[in-house]
Amino acid sequence: MEWSDDVIARLRVLWVEGLSTAEIGRRLNVSKNAVVGKAHRLNLPPRPSPIRRGVEGSASPRPQAPRRAQGPTLPPLAASMGGPAPTLRPIMSAPKQTLRATPCCWPSGEPGKPSFHFCSAGSVPGKPYCEDHAAIAYVRVRDRREDAA
Ligand SMILES: [Zn+2]
Repeated sequence: MEWSDDVIARLRVLWVEGLSTAEIGRRLNVSKNAVVGKAHRLNLPPRPSPIRRGVEGSASPRPQAPRRAQGPTLPPLAASMGGPAPTLRPIMSAPKQTLRATPCCWPSGEPGKPSFHFCSAGSVPGKPYCEDHAAIAYVRVRDRREDAA
């Protein structure tokens, strides 16, 4: 039996296609043993197992073998590389306090005179004046708007 390049090429193709060695032998007009031996010398890849060939019903599906990670697992060091997680510090620790503590900044008296001072009563939350002065201020604003209209 001569293995010409052409026959070898056909052997490779049929081998990859998954034909049985006997079938390949028939097509190449060589014995099955010649096919096996030649394939071995050619270092052809291992044949895919003939799962669909005549074993239907007889072979139970193989349970998936758990894949084991090769090599060492991740060292626990990696988890602590960044140091301890930063604790969230409440930035707004004293939130509403300032609103209530702002003194009324309504000017009283004439500027430049010793009697001049700010009202400095507790202001309405969210407004710069105390309740009384806020009422005056916003009435004035409203009056101005009505005058302008
Ligand atoms: Zn006031």
